[in-house]
Amino acid sequence: MIHNILKTISPSSSRGETSPSEQNASPSSATPLRDGSKARQTMERNTTGKPGSPGITGGNNGIYPQGRSNAAYPPQGGVMSASCPSASFSIDDIVSEAYSGYPDSSRRPVIGITANVCGEDYAHRQAYFRQVTEAGGLPVMLCPMEDARQCASMLDIVDGVILTGGSDHNPLWMGEEPVRGLGGINPARDRFELLLARLAYNRNIPMLGICRGIQTMAIAFGGHVVQDITSRVKHSQDAPKGEPTHSIIIEPRGGGGEDMYGVLGNGVCARRLFPHYVNSFHHQAVDDAGPLFRVAARSADGIVEAMECVTGHSALGVQWHPEQMGREGLPLFQWLVSEARIFSKSKSLHRRIMTVDSHCDTPMFFAKGVDFLSRDSRILYDLPKMDEGHIDAVQMVCYLPQPKLGQRFSECVDFAVDGPASYADLIFDKIEDICRQAPSRLSIARTPADVYRDKRSGRHSIILGIENGLALEHDIRQIQHFRQRGVTYITLCHNGDNDICDSARGCQTHGGLSSFGRDVIREMNRLGIMVDLSHAAETSFYQALELSSTPIVCSHSSCRALCDHPRNLTDDQMRALAAAGGVMQITLYHGFLAKDGEEATIDTFIRHLYHAIDIMGIDHVGIGTDFDGDGGVRGIASASELINITRHLLRYNMPEGDIEKLWGKNWLRVMNLCQAAAN
Ligand SMILES: [Zn+2]
Ligand SMILES: [Zn+2]
Repeated sequence: MIHNILKTISPSSSRGETSPSEQNASPSSATPLRDGSKARQTMERNTTGKPGSPGITGGNNGIYPQGRSNAAYPPQGGVMSASCPSASFSIDDIVSEAYSGYPDSSRRPVIGITANVCGEDYAHRQAYFRQVTEAGGLPVMLCPMEDARQCASMLDIVDGVILTGGSDHNPLWMGEEPVRGLGGINPARDRFELLLARLAYNRNIPMLGICRGIQTMAIAFGGHVVQDITSRVKHSQDAPKGEPTHSIIIEPRGGGGEDMYGVLGNGVCARRLFPHYVNSFHHQAVDDAGPLFRVAARSADGIVEAMECVTGHSALGVQWHPEQMGREGLPLFQWLVSEARIFSKSKSLHRRIMTVDSHCDTPMFFAKGVDFLSRDSRILYDLPKMDEGHIDAVQMVCYLPQPKLGQRFSECVDFAVDGPASYADLIFDKIEDICRQAPSRLSIARTPADVYRDKRSGRHSIILGIENGLALEHDIRQIQHFRQRGVTYITLCHNGDNDICDSARGCQTHGGLSSFGRDVIREMNRLGIMVDLSHAAETSFYQALELSSTPIVCSHSSCRALCDHPRNLTDDQMRALAAAGGVMQITLYHGFLAKDGEEATIDTFIRHLYHAIDIMGIDHVGIGTDFDGDGGVRGIASASELINITRHLLRYNMPEGDIEKLWGKNWLRVMNLCQAAAN
């Protein structure tokens, strides 16, 4: 399980190892930071480089208590010291040292740490650097940028983000007037960090907010921060920075997972609330975590001390300063670095493999003025979201609703069209238009070879499909027409029987395939178009399987054994499909993943994936989201979040070769087979 990752890397963080007298033996040499204090804080800085200066690695640095059982903490060699005792003043020696482990197979995940702005300087506390280094990360400083687009490209190089402490937020970001207790604000940081938080979330980059950072997260994601708290507990301590001065209670979320309890709670106290001791330097605090987060810890006076993401993204915020708490603050940084490492591995894997989603219905929104080339909140698939989710190719279908008895097709769609075939042509025209607008970034692929060619050229692919053979208008010649347009599969029917076959949600009009349906399958085989049996009745499914000379597919279906819905495949269907060389693409619609009243999560989806692999074998399973037809599973709710599937599979130690098969290799194998058999 996810939280076990942390359990295994986290040292005991329980109090009691250190006596109060030991804590007191660690006076800080600097004025404690009070975020947003009325007198503008100056950063603790060490520019002298003198031996024994505070914050320098080696010996006691003035922050970590002396006399701990582990004398090696903080690590040697983590942060460069100008007074390094081993310095020989030979440049060749240090260059040789840099190459001594070459090639370095243990690349550290890059953790971006937001900088403070102090007059003309960008700076931050060395404690952040030290903790990240000790946790196994590679710290880099993220300086505020004016240019929002530059900010986005900056995130391409980081695997994790720390939003650091500092001054107050301008209340205007929350639409509020300032109260008397408001402290100093830092406009450059506000703008940059609020943007950074949103962009990092969209890109699934693991995030840790500290003090001001948790407040940044709350404001960025629709929560709220109190400008000046008045409370019986002192939240702005005068004690040394590493000294905990009050307690918090961390609430278990239940069900395990990557939550605050999993990070800081230890297994011994598994189901019991227990106090955790923290330091405190703030006068603003989150009072509403917003829709994407939940409160994970409070102090005795009810102040929010921690929050965690509820959508499955790796994002935690704490009000205290773990960077100042030495070993006891380390588990949060170990959590971040561990998440960043998995994220980095996922990105790297997606660069090397082909990722194909076999079904989305986005084109039906193209009539409504959506913009596929920019990030459009009205659709789940657009080009920026494909970049963010690291998805190479998507099958975009023209979905045709099945008219009810007595209803005309033109009444069911948003365009004025003569009939189903001209509607499909119009949809494909629109997709071609979009691709023409961005030829260097997007292309229509007609074959697996096209998809690989696009990836090599740095382009995304759109592959065309038709959902509902109604588009053929009972004319077999239309199949050739649509193949010429680039269509690679046709879903024989939708919800309701048509002239080709019976639907899973129909009334058994034909008892399976109609005789026209049999001709359709033969013609699709002849032209190399895949036969898609998602939405088909079981009778249609088995008859098509029997008849088709090439493997069939189910482009977006889940497992009946886990969710009893007529649209899902039974284990017997899955076995028959695999035996015929076909592929089943697990879909992301919550109604096909979980029963009514139960929430489908990314874990539910993964369970379906593993069940299908158990029944069919790894060579016959894939992923078909059905986005913009359905969707809405938290954590994988749009194309931008699809890399989270890979993150989860890597956590479950699925071999990369298997992930590659699920993410498109199986699907493209069947497409290749069908196209190769065409004559
Ligand atoms: Zn669909
Ligand atoms: Zn569908």
